[in-house]
Amino acid sequence: MTLFPLFANLRHRAVLVIGGGEIAERKVRLMLAAGARVSVVAPYAVDALQELARQERIVLYRERYQARHLDGAWLIIAATDDRPVNQRIAQDAQQARILVNVVDDPELSSFQVPAIVDRSPLIIAISSTGSAPMLARRVREQLETMMDHSLGALARLAHEYRGAIRRARPELGARRRFYDWLVDGPVGAALRGRRDEQARLALEHALQGPETAQGGQGRVILVGAGPGDPGLLTLHALRALNRADVILYDRLVSDQVLELARRDAARIFVGKQLGEDHHQTQARIHALLVEHARAGRTVVRLKGGDGFIFGRGGEELEYLARHDVAFEVVPGITAALACAAYSGIPLTHRDHAQSVQFVTAHRQSGHAIQDWTSLLDPSQTVAVYMGLQQILRFSEELLLRGRDADTPCALVENGSRPEQRTLLSTLRNIARDAQQHEFKSPSILLIGKVATLGATLSWHGELIDLLTPQEHLTENALLETA
Ligand code: SAH
Repeated sequence: MTLFPLFANLRHRAVLVIGGGEIAERKVRLMLAAGARVSVVAPYAVDALQELARQERIVLYRERYQARHLDGAWLIIAATDDRPVNQRIAQDAQQARILVNVVDDPELSSFQVPAIVDRSPLIIAISSTGSAPMLARRVREQLETMMDHSLGALARLAHEYRGAIRRARPELGARRRFYDWLVDGPVGAALRGRRDEQARLALEHALQGPETAQGGQGRVILVGAGPGDPGLLTLHALRALNRADVILYDRLVSDQVLELARRDAARIFVGKQLGEDHHQTQARIHALLVEHARAGRTVVRLKGGDGFIFGRGGEELEYLARHDVAFEVVPGITAALACAAYSGIPLTHRDHAQSVQFVTAHRQSGHAIQDWTSLLDPSQTVAVYMGLQQILRFSEELLLRGRDADTPCALVENGSRPEQRTLLSTLRNIARDAQQHEFKSPSILLIGKVATLGATLSWHGELIDLLTPQEHLTENALLETA
């Protein structure tokens, strides 16, 4: 070990920063965040440092560096771009036995500033001993991704109850298991949901009972898996996948997303099965959710897109609530948003669309829709979800109800996935064109003037543009007059 990691208490202690550039400014802010009393020595200083001096948060000496500046400092940071000056500072500091960091110069430094992940009071410092700062930053990035921000609150709570935990679990093994339970069980979950009081109650309740009584309760995390591209998962979704004991997933969840899950999580496909109707499928899913959660497992219920958009997520949570199973919800990027983004079709646009509506063209297309007027509004974008045949039937129904046959639309198949295709056409022709080009599910239909923008803004996958030049022209003319 060439460097020994220390966590320094700099509160109210004098720290000297030499240099007045942006790098110096960054170091100053870091030291201020640690509560240090910061002095800066530099003949010239960037505006931000001058501002800090005006606010009396630092003391700024507009002078060239001299050895006497080091007097009284606990720590020194040299951030000048003048190597001879840096060298002198390093030497002087060495003589005065004060730790010094020369930015980006491990040779001259007697201490180095690590890459930091801050979940105070939990702090992680990473160093590559100056050999490959890139690598340290990469590790930091991964830790930032893995670690929920509620960990800080958890660490504070653990600190507060440290004595009580020690008394309630005197044996080391039991204590370790208790801390694991604290992170993975209901206390951690309550803190993630910002229910601090509930977390405290769960902790105190567990401390009063024997170890065997603690835990037991699993829970369900309803996670939106997005439209397929794993890069569209949220950090919370990724963390849930890393914690899962069991994953119940649908047909629309992509393999790449599933691959990100913990290796030893059990994966259960719960899509509709042959000969089953919706009620049977749903009843089977409800039963599995409750069974696994009651067995103390962390169950991730993984749904394509967002669980609350045409995903029956609401029904499943209602069932869990009735059966007293705890749950959390992580939203996902719904197909309409992803398909619009990946085919370059802004769903609203100052010149073309003032609102957007998500509809599902279920079974007997459109029969559930009570009022069609808003769907006919030319200044509204409509995103139609569901199986391709139902979507196309819906487009015909919309025509019959009176939406302009020349309305541009875009059919996006496999949105965000490598095999994405986008078809631009009109409401009149879309069903015919979709058949001709053999479009399949999953596809979504975006109806409205904004669809023409896909001709210029499309950037992902294959674009099949069947809009006539004239149809583009009218749009361009519209754009120019706007
Ligand atoms: N909860 C999901 C929607 C479920 S309904 C969400 O928020 O996205 C299923 C329908 O969503 C499909 O029939 C299709 O119309 C649409 N869909 C889902 N993923 C899609 C994708 N990658 N590309 C295009 N459409 C998609």
